[in-house]
Amino acid sequence: EQDARYLISLIRSVPGFPKAGVLFRDFMPVINDPRGLRIMLRALRLALPVPEDSFDSVAGLEARGFLFGPALAANLGKGFIAVRKAGKLPPQTVREEYSLEYGQAQVEVEVSAITPGERVLIVDDLIATGGSAKAAADLVERCGGTVAGFSFVMGLDGLEGTASLGPIPRARS
Ligand code: IMP
Repeated sequence: EQDARYLISLIRSVPGFPKAGVLFRDFMPVINDPRGLRIMLRALRLALPVPEDSFDSVAGLEARGFLFGPALAANLGKGFIAVRKAGKLPPQTVREEYSLEYGQAQVEVEVSAITPGERVLIVDDLIATGGSAKAAADLVERCGGTVAGFSFVMGLDGLEGTASLGPIPRARS
C-alpha cells in the first residue's frame, strides 16, 4: 500500500503533451528512481495475469516497454521480444498499422524472434485504447506464437482499452 502510493507519487501528469488535450502520464521518474524501479518491477511480477510457467517469453513495445520488459524477462528467466516502430528492424519482419490516442502508428516484429507455438506475455507501461497492445498481439500470432497474457503498469480509465483485447488474461500493476 505504501509502495503503491510511492509509485503513484512518482508518475508525473503532463497536460497538453505531446499535443493539446492529452494528459500525458510520464513514467520516466519511476525508472529514474531506484526505489520506484524496484517497486514497479516487483509489482509487475506479482501481478502477472497468468502463472510464470504458462509463457515462454516477454514481448515489450517500443519505447517504454523496452525499459522494463527486458528487466522483467530477466527476473523470470525468459527472453525478450522487441515490438519496434516500423523501419528499424532488418528483414524478415511483419508489420501492423493501428490508431493511437494521438495519431497513427506502425509496429514490427522480426519473424525469427518467435518460434512456432511460443507463448508470449506482452508488456507495456500504459494501456489507453488498447490499439498498441492489440497490434503487438496480432504480430505475435502472425509469427506463429500465442499470446498468454498482457501486463500493464497502468490503465487509463474512460478508454475502453481492455475490451479490444478479447478474452486473453490481462493485469495492471
Ligand atoms: P493505446 O494504444 O491507445 O492503448 O496507447 C498505449 C500506448 O501509447 C502505449 O505504448 C503507451 O506507452 C502510449 N501512451 C498513451 N498515452 C500515454 C500516456 O499518457 N503516457 C505514457 N504513454 C502513453
